[in-house]
Amino acid sequence: MTTERLYYTDSYLIAFDADLIEHTTYNGAPAVVLSRTCFYPTSGGQPHDTGTLNSVPVIDVAIREADGAVLHVLAGELAAERVQGQVDWARRFDHMRHHTGQHILSQALIHVAQAETVGFHMSPDSITIDLNRPQIAPEQVDAAEDLANRIVAENRPVRAWFPSEDERAGLTLRKVPDVEGRFRVVDIADFDVTACGGTHVAHSGEIGIIKVLRVDKRGDTVRVEFRCGERALLDYREKNALLNRLAAEMTVGYWEVPDALERLREENKALRRDLRAVREVVLAAEADALWQAADRSAGYALIVHAFEDHDPAEVRQIVQHVIAHPATVALCGAAGDKAQLIVARSDDLPYDMVAVLKHGLAVWQVDRGGGRPSFAQGGGVAAARAAVEQALAAAAAALHSENVTKG
Ligand SMILES: [Zn+2]
Repeated sequence: MTTERLYYTDSYLIAFDADLIEHTTYNGAPAVVLSRTCFYPTSGGQPHDTGTLNSVPVIDVAIREADGAVLHVLAGELAAERVQGQVDWARRFDHMRHHTGQHILSQALIHVAQAETVGFHMSPDSITIDLNRPQIAPEQVDAAEDLANRIVAENRPVRAWFPSEDERAGLTLRKVPDVEGRFRVVDIADFDVTACGGTHVAHSGEIGIIKVLRVDKRGDTVRVEFRCGERALLDYREKNALLNRLAAEMTVGYWEVPDALERLREENKALRRDLRAVREVVLAAEADALWQAADRSAGYALIVHAFEDHDPAEVRQIVQHVIAHPATVALCGAAGDKAQLIVARSDDLPYDMVAVLKHGLAVWQVDRGGGRPSFAQGGGVAAARAAVEQALAAAAAALHSENVTKG
């Protein structure tokens, strides 16, 4: 026995009684089949209703493929032969408004842009339709939105019924059903006629505003996200508050926020440029000081220094600066999570700095590094200042042993 679906004839009926005719399970949860029901099962893009059966919460409603029975999935066991059913009205009405709103918006998109709806999806977070084309102009979306809201304002009657065979032959449907024989039709007076099993409002005015939020290209289709009624109001409230907060934060009118953002972006770019120039001067001064204080006992200037306050890129700049002086060797390191050794010499000295680097990195037992004879860099492991100093000492010892002289 299949369930009599009361919502087919009256979307506004949310309290009912029925015989419990079968106990079963659905995905491991207890479920019951009733002689008749107001509960809408998930289908046709519309989510299921929620509510109670004898005060046991109904957490899911599904159609059983085999016989079309409506399964009421319950939060707990239900032991009764007669049940009182109660559907949650806020959720049902939200679904009714959005489903009828979808029919109107789909027809409006055909009117304005010949764009046909090929998909419909409704969830607590978003309501979308997919159109059979890869793009749609923003002006066309606006025009469809205008038309849809005009249909709402005209408060047109909406009729849902099962037409007779003769009646069916005379109907021009937006969407032809994929079922054989008897099917249900939803008619929004003089605007849209389509096959649909969903729950709908009785008059288009109940929908409230229909607002498109965004249009996303998805391959060969576009996805149009929209909201109706209370959800549209909540969305407007949230976005209005957000924009007002942004404007207050920037001490401008809300319409000036884009310009204020652009100014901030430009300012930020100029500041970064200035900061980079200042940093270069600071690093050059630091490099000069290091070169002045270099150990010259070996006949050239030797700088050995472990940095804690500069990242490897900055240490590189310092090294490049000092080895611009003739007869100079720099053995430097940057401590940190990804510590680096940077060893280099002026062009007039014979040392192979790649070999010097290897001696230093051997202390850390790593082999990640290389370069050219005058400039080498490597590391990439965590090393504190003391560990960097140890590695630099090994590099300096190799340099003094003269076995890293090339040629
Ligand atoms: Zn529908």
